[in-house]
Amino acid sequence: MKKGKKLYEGKAKIVYAAPDSGLAIQHFKDHATAFNNLKKSTIEGKGVLNNRISEHILTSLEGIGIKTHLVKRINMREQLIKLVDIIPIEFIIRNIATGSITKRLGIKDGTILDRPLIEFCYKDDDLGDPLIAKEHILAFNWATATELDWITEQCFRINDFMQGMFRGVGIKLVDFKLEFGKTRTGKKQIILADEISPDTCRLWDIDSDEKLDKDRFRKDLGNLIPAYKEVAKRLNILHELTNISELKFNKPTSIKLKKK
Ligand code: 5GP
Repeated sequence: MKKGKKLYEGKAKIVYAAPDSGLAIQHFKDHATAFNNLKKSTIEGKGVLNNRISEHILTSLEGIGIKTHLVKRINMREQLIKLVDIIPIEFIIRNIATGSITKRLGIKDGTILDRPLIEFCYKDDDLGDPLIAKEHILAFNWATATELDWITEQCFRINDFMQGMFRGVGIKLVDFKLEFGKTRTGKKQIILADEISPDTCRLWDIDSDEKLDKDRFRKDLGNLIPAYKEVAKRLNILHELTNISELKFNKPTSIKLKKK
């Protein structure tokens, strides 16, 4: 499929115009960034893995009635997606406290939350994606109260589904980030956008708590590709990627899962 002009370039993805209006092509890069772009690297093969893992998760979510921007995966690095105007909020869902919440509130790392927690962050790199309240979203018209209630409900449904999916393959879904957008053509509809991958989730091995996500990069743990491959292997999609040259240099099982 012929790519049109570049519409947007983010840290890990590029969005190009697609031949059909209302659609776009989302390209997954190998770039890894953390701490608001202070730490940067290129990790060969990451984009390929995120493209396939995100396709798998979004397709599974479509199966339970969640509307997403995914039309289809086109190749190893690209997906055809519906063009949306992104709501400038990161919706963070947490099942276990780790990362920013532990620093912000002094909660012990690894604390299992009694019920899932949703947080809202304003999507602005220059401001470091600050935590905001529901009232900010309403005050600045980033979404209406009805839209926000609906998105919140979707977030918890997605969490329930994904927790079960990952638990079934021996992975704890610790937390994750979602983005939603409004379609541009036809009836303006809010749909799930962006990606769901080990870049946007925290995933821990159920027995060892070994990190199988982007924290391997953030915390200099190394072995990021073997960890992402391990996620793909458990989701039973790795075999489709075995001929990809970028992924050949690391055997699927080369990550050592420590026992607790
Ligand atoms: P935290 O707030 O603890 O840094 O992140 C919570 C969860 O949201 C983690 O799973 C993290 O990967 C995800 N997350 C939050 N902000 C971003 C972001 O700007 N980019 C990506 N890729 N993930 C994010």
